[in-house]
Amino acid sequence: MTDVPRSHPRYESLRTRDAIVAGVQKGITSPHGLIAHGRGEAYDYLLGEKSHDFALAAIDAAAHMLIHARHPVVSVNGNVAALVPDELVELADTLDAPLEVNIFHSSKEREEAIRQFLEEHGAKRLLMPSRDAELDFIDSNRKFVHPQGIYRADVIFVPLEDGDRCQALRKMGKAVVTVDLNPMSRTSRTASITIVDNVVRSLPLLIARIRELRASAPEQPGAEFDNARNLAAAERAIRAESR
Ligand code: ATP
Repeated sequence: MTDVPRSHPRYESLRTRDAIVAGVQKGITSPHGLIAHGRGEAYDYLLGEKSHDFALAAIDAAAHMLIHARHPVVSVNGNVAALVPDELVELADTLDAPLEVNIFHSSKEREEAIRQFLEEHGAKRLLMPSRDAELDFIDSNRKFVHPQGIYRADVIFVPLEDGDRCQALRKMGKAVVTVDLNPMSRTSRTASITIVDNVVRSLPLLIARIRELRASAPEQPGAEFDNARNLAAAERAIRAESR
């Protein structure tokens, strides 16, 4: 982003936008991902582009849930791969969990491009969708999963998820932790824990919280977390911020 100075008030937002555009150019992100990103930007703008207390509360609950999971998996789509590749690898390493590629718009080339990109960023355990395992309750390409990954996972971290698959995962009895700037999306409402924050800001916070918990008392349960209440707080913040 050579022509935008760091002092520009929208520097971070523009830098993130550049990362998504670069993702499309590299064949990692689908052109549809640009639209999803635009929706995210709009909500982030309304949230004042900061991590609110409700996001920190969800991050804390998510960290507890993920460190207590038996088979946690980090699901990766084209947007998150383009935005936070290093953090995805770091999160998976910290949790000793695999990364699994799972994209909405079916494309073998794009799945391969994501795999290669994440490997360049240091990914070691990387699972790909397979024809050997299918999720119930869903018809799209996203039903194809890896038998040792999402299929057997008890907790799935899946940022920027779509509502259908989130619902399917929940119906299969799996816990879902998502990151979604829109507290009203079906994903936000269906997930077990929704972090209403930009994935670019929240992933480093989640990794740091997991490390902190690991270093202290991992057997302690987290504070009670009510996703619906937390989403209501996010919605109130949007209304207050935009008044
Ligand atoms: P749903 O099916 O859950 O109702 P949707 O169809 O509205 O979702 P999608 O296009 O599937 O939305 O996914 C994009 C979602 O990701 C949007 O809710 C958008 O706000 C959110 N999003 C986009 N970019 C980011 C980001 N950088 N960080 C967090 N959330 C984001």
